Amino acid sequence: MPHDWEASKLRLLGTFIGSPNIDRVPFFPLACEEMICRISGKTFRELISSPKTYGNAAIQTYEFLKADTIAIPTAYAGPAEALAFAEANNKEDVIKWFDYKVFMAKQGAICKTEEDIEKLEIPDHSKISLWDTCYSAIDFLREKIKFQPSCALGIWSVVQQLRGPQVYRDMRKNPELLLQLCEKVYQSQRDLFNFYNERIGPSGNIFFTGYAFNKHMMSFEDAMKFEGQFIKRLQNETRVPIVLHNCGTTPYFDEICNNLEISAINGSHPLDIEYWVKFKENHPNTTIIGANIDVSRELLNGTPLEVEEKVKENIRHLAQGGRYAVGPICCLPWGVSLNNILTIPKAIKKWGTYPLQTQLLY
Ligand SMILES: [Zn+2]
Repeated sequence: MPHDWEASKLRLLGTFIGSPNIDRVPFFPLACEEMICRISGKTFRELISSPKTYGNAAIQTYEFLKADTIAIPTAYAGPAEALAFAEANNKEDVIKWFDYKVFMAKQGAICKTEEDIEKLEIPDHSKISLWDTCYSAIDFLREKIKFQPSCALGIWSVVQQLRGPQVYRDMRKNPELLLQLCEKVYQSQRDLFNFYNERIGPSGNIFFTGYAFNKHMMSFEDAMKFEGQFIKRLQNETRVPIVLHNCGTTPYFDEICNNLEISAINGSHPLDIEYWVKFKENHPNTTIIGANIDVSRELLNGTPLEVEEKVKENIRHLAQGGRYAVGPICCLPWGVSLNNILTIPKAIKKWGTYPLQTQLLY
């Protein structure tokens, strides 16, 4: 049967708005470059050789996984933002390329010194060929399957790429300098958002990688200072709902939702399902994408039966009344067996079709 993207769109939209009329729990995997290379058989350089090639490989991958979402994973506030800054500042040599995964920027090489930060030029994304290709690939998807991947932004994920581990020393010794860098990254994100709107059209939501919000990295106060205040500004300026992604092991999800207006959160920790049950009670209008399905546990080392049990546990506790999507995070790594991944959509069909057969779930 061909993939029904219209049904996926309705399923996802219905989940976000808490509609009682969705057919089943959506499947929201993050298939990054490695997975797209693996399933399409193309190298990363081939993917980015044209929007059509990348777009078709993404369709092939997400359809193979029976997903209810799709993405052009390179178009987010990660390595591709580092590349944009590298190009705008004539430092392309810090980028290292690979065959079957995304390129990497040498951590901290673009903003090694204070002067690097002060003189840092903000990229014009319409002039960066990689971004042009990625956004054209998103536009290709919008045309071809009538499903438009969201605009993906972030602050801390980019700051870390540009400044590397020095950020933690700056935080104590020179927070003003660090804020100056955050501000420049914010300006760059706004440029990206504008470019997205010009090239593709309005985004239904912003997929925001809020990597500052982790207890083992910094206090909540610092996370608000170096990332949260920029999320607030972004919301005030764009009015687009935010899906906050954080794949760390000690995320501040409760605190985030108490302090910012977040329409959905995407995480895999904490692993205690009871945390998520309470989270849903405390934030009934926030959609949960994920909960405790971590790509480096059952999916990586377990059997299909164990994966099914994990999906079932999440659906049983969180899918009643909607606003829940099964989303293993973060990106599905190379070593995860396809058999285990494909168990997820099967388990969703079996256990996550509405109305939920709650008595069978126990
Ligand atoms: Zn992640």
